[in-house]
Amino acid sequence: MTYELLQQWIDESSKIVFFGGAGVSTESGIPDFRSVDGLYHQKYDYPPEEILSHTFFVRKPEEFFRFYRDKMLPLDAEPNAAHRKLAEWEKSGKLAGIVTQNIDGLHQKAGNQKVFELHGSIHRNYCERCGKFFPPEYIRDYPELVPKCGCGGRIKPDVVLYEEGLDNDVVTGAVHAISKADLMIVAGTSLTVYPAAGLVRYFRGKHLILINRDATPMDSECDLVIHDKVGQVLSSLK
Ligand code: ZN
Repeated sequence: MTYELLQQWIDESSKIVFFGGAGVSTESGIPDFRSVDGLYHQKYDYPPEEILSHTFFVRKPEEFFRFYRDKMLPLDAEPNAAHRKLAEWEKSGKLAGIVTQNIDGLHQKAGNQKVFELHGSIHRNYCERCGKFFPPEYIRDYPELVPKCGCGGRIKPDVVLYEEGLDNDVVTGAVHAISKADLMIVAGTSLTVYPAAGLVRYFRGKHLILINRDATPMDSECDLVIHDKVGQVLSSLK
């Protein structure tokens, strides 16, 4: 019954916005580093939240990149059923955009183009000195811990670390897409990461849907809540 209602709403919509968090990528084998069995509970000298902070990146770049190479560069990960369904919807003109908290680039790999990456992307990396861009493989394969540009500058992944602000253009684009949408699906996120979570407030459309394995603080504010895996839900839809 729930799925039939969701399908009906999707059929009636022409400007869907999908807002996704870590749970969208877990079915591609990428761990949610906020979940119980995620990175936070794996063994490192420092907690991941500290390693992935701007201060840590500046003070201990060797430790940062050791962790980053190990945990943040899943370059062989493939899009899952959720990514593929969203790519279909964009092709058929139903999907107005994707706003994601993920940095893995799997939406683009699946074929989506209208993607607002709130926390940046592991696929963009730049020299802090001259601005030259590098692919993620350059970081993965660099013979030393801290990757360097030919000019001698350090290379920084274009991902938003803790203590860093979101990119204004990305936020503006996401707000615009959300405010124009007629249906919004929030999926795979507990919506506890601010300011990203606050973006949902810009939605003025008809139906707000939440798909998440566990209950979230947002559940009571949604028109429909499904506690299940995102890929499983989306792949059952047309
Ligand atoms: Zn350089």
